[in-house]
Amino acid sequence: MIKAIFFDLDDTLVNSKKAEYNAICDFKKLYSEFDKIKDIDFANVWNKITIEIYEEYHSGKISFEELRIGRMKGLFSNYSINISDEEAEQKFKDYKSIYEKNWILFDDAKEVLEHLKNKYKLVIISNGDGKWQRKKIEHMGLNKYFSDIIISSEVGYSKPEKEIFDIACKMVDLKPANCVMIGDKLKVDIQGALNAGMQAIWVNRKKEKLSYEYQIKELNELTKYL
Ligand SMILES: [Mg+2]
Repeated sequence: MIKAIFFDLDDTLVNSKKAEYNAICDFKKLYSEFDKIKDIDFANVWNKITIEIYEEYHSGKISFEELRIGRMKGLFSNYSINISDEEAEQKFKDYKSIYEKNWILFDDAKEVLEHLKNKYKLVIISNGDGKWQRKKIEHMGLNKYFSDIIISSEVGYSKPEKEIFDIACKMVDLKPANCVMIGDKLKVDIQGALNAGMQAIWVNRKKEKLSYEYQIKELNELTKYL
């Protein structure tokens, strides 16, 4: 019997894609040079640069600082504007503060949490930086739904490592078999939870064609497995 539900944060409860799109469109408005460029085109350029540069970062070719500077320099140079490292750093700070104002949940997230909070213990398990993730959680008014919030940088383990799921079970004082993990990443959220002896429901919003029995396209479909 399920007594606790563990939620991933980004792309499970938080609509990161929408937040990024809205943020880069708001950032564009700061510069008259970009007035004639369509929002969608500008956002596509930003996405393309972001994906390329994150590949370099993940393969260890550049540092996190170079990643931030590189994203901004790449964006501006796409429109034939050269900026210095210092300018890129400042512009990235501006973007980041705009991005924070655009954090947004999926439409059905609060309704689903509201429905579940009286029946189950709810916990967030998120990979990321504690300060940043907690700021995000607070900004979106999520604290009141969750008994515990577990963030990888604070506990020293990341999903899919079994330990982070064990910590969550200990916090709610339940056996893994009484807990279910909800997340958007099969290898990280779902496989990790299964390895820890829990059940897991995959939020497959992109409708990827992969066979996993327990999957939903929207959070409001959760009840069919609970
Ligand atoms: Mg996620």
